[in-house]
Amino acid sequence: MANQEKPKPSARHDTAGSALPLSGRHALVTGGGRGIGVAIASTLLALGADVTIVGRDKGVLLNATGRLAARAAGRIAAESCDVTSLDSIAAALTAATQRLGDVHILVNNAGAVRSAPFEKTDLAAWNDALAVNLTGAYLCTQIVMPGMRAAGWGRIINVASTAGLKGYRYVAAYCAAKHGLVGLTRALAVELARAGITVNAVCPGYTDTEMVRDAAGKIAAKTGRSVEQARAELASANPQGRLITPEEVAHAVGWLCLPPSAGITGQALPIDGGETVA
Ligand code: NDP
Repeated sequence: MANQEKPKPSARHDTAGSALPLSGRHALVTGGGRGIGVAIASTLLALGADVTIVGRDKGVLLNATGRLAARAAGRIAAESCDVTSLDSIAAALTAATQRLGDVHILVNNAGAVRSAPFEKTDLAAWNDALAVNLTGAYLCTQIVMPGMRAAGWGRIINVASTAGLKGYRYVAAYCAAKHGLVGLTRALAVELARAGITVNAVCPGYTDTEMVRDAAGKIAAKTGRSVEQARAELASANPQGRLITPEEVAHAVGWLCLPPSAGITGQALPIDGGETVA
């Protein structure tokens, strides 16, 4: 019985009258105001979930909810939150559950990268990388767990990276944190296997967001190449010769959340045009 799904609280329907697969589910997306996070929020809304997005910049969040609410009024909310602070997460979760109920889907997407040669990566930079990319996911996961256990159903998706599966130069702390996130995914998947909760990671290659625009800008400033050349160089890491789009990552996350994906757990799914197998 432990693994048996409890009935969903309510069903929402599309215009043709079919029940949307995630209706009655509340999803929390960290770093949901821009880039990959906002694409994930949009996909989960389209699948019928109620969605709370969190991040530190309230203005960015409100801008995103304004756009998303156009087709999901009353089903999208935002809370400011720093995922490196337990108090901040606890406050955001209290507000989110008061508004939309227990969280059944957690997408640990908040993340940040700072590049530097290893010898110039001081302890503060190392700790910062682990705090946002790994400890944040641990804290958010712990705090939503009682709601998932009560529902007997849950989906935890960790937005890791190809940097969680292979090494890259000048981002040792980020790689270590993302490898840790993949490890957390695998361990938790086994621990929760009979609780109706799946835990998976998605591992995007270079994706067309602010993060990659920043990286291209920094490479250009350091090397004297143009931003376009730097961007093309990043895209060339992908055997398909292009950047991944946020929507492609969101599509994979949405699919992992669907009820028939219940047998997929503990996986780290590369979305990288073949980079990690080339
Ligand atoms: P962005 O920089 O566009 O977005 C990062 C998001 O994380 C923002 O919404 C930001 O919001 C939020 N965030 C950062 N720090 C914190 C914090 N301490 N507390 C709460 N939220 C925080 O990057 P992407 O959309 O590209 O990245 C999303 C995820 O995808 C990250 O985990 C990243 O590592 C991963 N990824 C990205 C790739 C890429 O090439 N773009 C490739 C592989 C993985 P705010 O600043 O307002 O807090």
